[in-house]
Amino acid sequence: MFVLDTHCDTPSEIFRGRDMSLDNATGHVDLPKIERSIVDGAFFALYVPAEKSPQQAWEYAHILLESTKNFVGAHSDKVAFAISAKEAEENKERGLFSVMLALENGSALSDDLSRIDTLHEEGIRYITLCHSADNAICDSCASSCATWNGLSRFGREVVKRMNEAGILVDVSHISDKSFFDVVDLSTKPVVATHSCCRALASHPRNMTDEMIRCLASNGGVIQINFYPVFLSSDYKEKMPSYKRIGDHIDHVAQILGNVEHIGLGSDFDGIEITPEGMEDISKVHLVFEDLVSRGYSKEDIRKIAGANFFRIWG
Ligand SMILES: [Zn+2]
Repeated sequence: MFVLDTHCDTPSEIFRGRDMSLDNATGHVDLPKIERSIVDGAFFALYVPAEKSPQQAWEYAHILLESTKNFVGAHSDKVAFAISAKEAEENKERGLFSVMLALENGSALSDDLSRIDTLHEEGIRYITLCHSADNAICDSCASSCATWNGLSRFGREVVKRMNEAGILVDVSHISDKSFFDVVDLSTKPVVATHSCCRALASHPRNMTDEMIRCLASNGGVIQINFYPVFLSSDYKEKMPSYKRIGDHIDHVAQILGNVEHIGLGSDFDGIEITPEGMEDISKVHLVFEDLVSRGYSKEDIRKIAGANFFRIWG
């Protein structure tokens, strides 16, 4: 089975100078931790803060891309890029950890649809439409002003072009209205690469049951985020255990009646706190041990670990 994590913010840390060859005391992903980990590959998000202008955003995303390329190039005995599920499987067979690329914040597109094709050529395989503020594409769940009341006219063109280019649309961070607009419009399944269930933790970043059903009926997946703030409403009083991740997986499985639309998107290196027992990427096997104890079959776990996301990506 291939174990996939669909969202790590590690490129920002590489850019800031983290020595990836060391077992760092802080942070969640580096080579020694990867070597101790069950995870076979992760999407490394080129995360662009919402404050940057579109042109700064485009330039900054490419600075992060260069840093990530330098990292992969310097450690080709341990890691390799993958631009398809097939390549990721091949890397695994060769004993290499797969680095897959994503852009977190479509603000970097500015008003230029051709940048979507450029990003595809550069290996980017999903784009998170926005981050913590409304942008030219859509409204963010973190904003109260509803600039577009969902997806903008330009945003509609972006979704269509992404469908054509073969770049997955990531609906994490977008407003509820934006979400329903995207699913309505997209001809391909959409993905929530790092989101949790609002029924278990009331936070606008999380998805309501209605949204999860809608996502699944369109063939998409929700990849559960490990951030305690999204896992548990009372995280301030009591830090949740890593088993809370299993609660969110259970919830999705229960409301859908199957495990076809669930996966993991840790948000490692993008979150300042982690659940108890889930300090970094080397601990992810605990989620699967917990699922076994909850009665999930080997086949269920294979799907949740990566096969569901790969089905869409393929
Ligand atoms: Zn994010």
